[in-house]
Amino acid sequence: MPEILEIEYYRLHAVEALGRTIADVHADDAWYLKGGLDGATARSALAGRTLTAARRRGKLLLLDTDEGEGPVLGLRFGMTGRLVVDHAAALDDLIYGSNRDEPAWDRFALDFVGGGHLRMRDPRRLGGVSLDPDEEALGPDGLTLTLRQLRAALGKSTAPLKARLMDQHRIAGLGNLLTDEILWRAGLDPQREAHRLDDEEIRRLHRHIRAGLDRLWQRGGSHTGDLQAERHRGGVCPKDGTPLSRRTIGGRTTYSCPLHQG
Ligand SMILES: [Zn+2]
Repeated sequence: MPEILEIEYYRLHAVEALGRTIADVHADDAWYLKGGLDGATARSALAGRTLTAARRRGKLLLLDTDEGEGPVLGLRFGMTGRLVVDHAAALDDLIYGSNRDEPAWDRFALDFVGGGHLRMRDPRRLGGVSLDPDEEALGPDGLTLTLRQLRAALGKSTAPLKARLMDQHRIAGLGNLLTDEILWRAGLDPQREAHRLDDEEIRRLHRHIRAGLDRLWQRGGSHTGDLQAERHRGGVCPKDGTPLSRRTIGGRTTYSCPLHQG
């Protein structure tokens, strides 16, 4: 599933479409239109508008039109969505979905004046498109998360630490792989109640969120963590060789080291 790093790649890819004016909108897949949007409304709201900014909040990609005078197009990528600008897909080697150029997987598209297009390709169809999505419903963005924001996100919550970090209303952008990798690096048990971290642990977690995201960005995505190769039954901790524990936390399969994650 694409996480914050993949959506940041998509955002950089979408920059290539900025300055272009929308000639036509292909929005025939009603399932893919969210927030009460229908195809006719999408067409009339977007045709003739120019894309002027590509922003991101967590896993939500936001395309501004007409310098903020037009609607904001919100793109969510679900499990297997990817962004195609003209004929090039961002992240050609993305492991989450097939990169076959299969027109049946195009769920939404913009054609630009003078040629070229932007498409949402999504085999499993779990992403979606909306206009003027509620950005404030999302927590602060994971890539720029401050220590103070992390402290506020953990708060007095008795939820497991991992579930709290993945709660998009608290922190936007962290998913299953990144959260396991960060907690493994920080030496923190994903099952700990979020409010039980002391100040030193919160600081350590913050450092590892920043450094871990930075490292995995350099390597090429959420699936490039040190823990990745051991995410299977019988996997062992890459630090100390201890058999990893495998649990369901926050509804997701979670790998952690019972020895060094406390
Ligand atoms: Zn370990």
